[in-house]
Amino acid sequence: MAIIVQKYGGTSVGDVERIKKVAERIKSYRDDGHQMVVVVSARSGVTNELIARAEAITPLPSEREMDQLLAVGEQETIALTAIALQAIGVPAISYTGAQAGILTDKAHTKARIHSIDATRLKTDLNAGNVIILAGFQGISPEGQTTTLGRGGSDLSAIAIASAIKADKCEIYTDVDGVYTADPRIVKTARKIEEISYDEMLELASAGSKVMQNRSVEFAKKYDVVFEVRSSFNYNPGTIVKEEVASMEKVVVRGVAVDKNQSKVVITNLADKPGSAAKVFRALADAHIVVDMIVQNAGSNGVANLTFTAPANEVSKATRALEPVLKELGGSISSQDQVAKLSVVGVGMKTHSGVAATLFQSLADSGVNIDLISTSEIKITVSIAQAKADEAARAVHTAFGLDKA
Ligand code: ADP
Ligand code: ASP
Ligand code: MG
Repeated sequence: MAIIVQKYGGTSVGDVERIKKVAERIKSYRDDGHQMVVVVSARSGVTNELIARAEAITPLPSEREMDQLLAVGEQETIALTAIALQAIGVPAISYTGAQAGILTDKAHTKARIHSIDATRLKTDLNAGNVIILAGFQGISPEGQTTTLGRGGSDLSAIAIASAIKADKCEIYTDVDGVYTADPRIVKTARKIEEISYDEMLELASAGSKVMQNRSVEFAKKYDVVFEVRSSFNYNPGTIVKEEVASMEKVVVRGVAVDKNQSKVVITNLADKPGSAAKVFRALADAHIVVDMIVQNAGSNGVANLTFTAPANEVSKATRALEPVLKELGGSISSQDQVAKLSVVGVGMKTHSGVAATLFQSLADSGVNIDLISTSEIKITVSIAQAKADEAARAVHTAFGLDKA
């Protein structure tokens, strides 16, 4: 008998028929004697729909009210999943994030989990119930509903698995596991059997939305081994775990694209100590995650600073930077329709020529490279959004990742 955490994403609970299928799967695990804690997302499309409704009223709705609104999506599916289990004779209790004691900071729309008080949940679990937990939400110290950033149900699952010391954590989605690239874009992508936390984290941060990046960061920190698998079949999935030596043999594990980026350029910024610090402090205080920072060498006392950010955060970034630019001078402009393409692999630490292969394959496909950034296990380039899919396929082939 084991304690198992399962997470079902939006398509897995997309309608009542899917929810009934999920209930059957949960029942089969419970019939085998396991204790089950199940995290569910909102039905696919619901979170987007709720956001669109708010934005139809105003382009920058208050973040507190957005959390009130978005938490509704998961509240529907927890109740329906519990009802579906009860209907087939399985005792089940649904919990919101607050009811489950998921305590977060107060950063509305992208809150971080501080702690989980699982006392009540464990009591109900030990009494023989299946626990159905709302993903993506928690409660702040002030008692406010918070959400954990898009895709945050993954984080709820990993965090609860860590808190209750689960024996197993399974992330159910609509693909068989983690692939060498998004299988919807690169038809020749292959399923990966095992991947390290670091590689999964870099892929997720680079745009592979199969796992939320913060959930992988959490899993790495607390060593929560998990499996990504499909709720539509019984195939084995992908195990995500600590790096093992054999993983280094593969130079590039996967290719990721993020098509929802914008490039922000600040020109004629005062070139003096503290300028960059002020710019990025203002962005950090607005909770904007920036990437690919490039600054040119200054001349005549001014410099240009460029960075990429998620396209939907650019107006917030511009607003946050207004007071800084007033003080330091400089003007801001942005360009959307930008994509980031990344290749990731722990083997890069010990192999050379990865950048050359990447740049050559992009050149051969006529794709112009704008910004470039590297880490020990990742190379990222920014390119035109319209070329992103084609570029991903070319790069995937160039690194020998295509399935036979
Ligand atoms: P869920 O609703 O279950 O959380 P998501 O839509 O968030 O599911 O994530 C699953 C999707 O991630 C897949 O349908 C796939 O298109 C996409 N994806 C992107 N990159 C990858 C990858 N490397 N491997 C597998 N899926 C990927
Ligand atoms: N429903 C939320 C979202 O769409 C959380 C999740 O699905 O993981 O982002
Ligand atoms: Mg997801």
